[in-house]
Amino acid sequence: MDDRDGKIWLDGKWVEWRDAKVHVLTHTLHYGAGVFEGLRAYHTDQGPAIFKLAEHTDRLYRSAHILNMKIPFSKEEINQAHIGAISKNNLDSAYIRSMCFYGSEGMGLRADNLKVHVMVAAWEWGAYLGAESMEKGIRIRTSSYTRNHVNSTMCKAKANGNYINSILALQEALSSGYDEALLLDHEGFVAEGSGENLFIVRNGILYTPETTSALEGITRETILTIAKEQGLEVKEKRITRDEVYVADEAFFTGSAAEVTPIREYDNRQIGSGARGPITEKIQSLYFDYVHGRRGDHSEWLARVK
Ligand code: PMP
Repeated sequence: MDDRDGKIWLDGKWVEWRDAKVHVLTHTLHYGAGVFEGLRAYHTDQGPAIFKLAEHTDRLYRSAHILNMKIPFSKEEINQAHIGAISKNNLDSAYIRSMCFYGSEGMGLRADNLKVHVMVAAWEWGAYLGAESMEKGIRIRTSSYTRNHVNSTMCKAKANGNYINSILALQEALSSGYDEALLLDHEGFVAEGSGENLFIVRNGILYTPETTSALEGITRETILTIAKEQGLEVKEKRITRDEVYVADEAFFTGSAAEVTPIREYDNRQIGSGARGPITEKIQSLYFDYVHGRRGDHSEWLARVK
């Protein structure tokens, strides 16, 4: 996807898409010490809008803080770079990727003496786990890989290197015929998917794991708000894999994955084996909000034009 027309924001300047390159001795390329964000812009009646832009920028700064990385731009400059990535590329809906990474001034592990670079790019991207899966649901398996330990890599940081664990889990799931992995924490409790938070429904109550070993998902937060406003009882607690086996419904959430129903876990059908009624309701409300089809929570949308 590197050889195409378009503009990418790199260190405060708009550069041609195909010229947005780094040197092979880029520190983050070698060791994975970098932080990033993934978010979406959606079509609305009033032009494209970025969903929860400020929340994603805040998380980018929190991730950088955890890694002791100093972002050399203000939050407002970063927000404007995201907005520009949509407008300059004439996008109506898009996935946006922003990243802070260390430069190529030195190769030792210490990074405090290196330049911090920032990039923002946006492109059209459909349903992360496939359009059909949004209705039919996906099949997932427990990963043989344990989720990153809280005192090993920092789970609250959306850090590049943390994703080796995710990639191993996803590769394993895909190569054994599943759509996605569910990772357990080091104590055996459910943590999250390779790039999604998990929710289950049991007896009308919505449960999601605490974020001890999972990313503080921005979609997760949105779903918790939407569910509470709908009068649903919501509980954040430790969840075991067999609680998921006997759930009435289950779904993944993420900026890329949006709200994706889960129809089967470890070869056990979840509920009726189709998208459940509460999942469908929440999914449909989520899409209404991101597309600006409801009057409330307009603060969640950063208008591009
Ligand atoms: N967990 C992981 C590991 C992720 O990569 C993501 C995607 N950023 C999520 C959860 C969901 O987070 P969000 O809703 O903020 O996209």
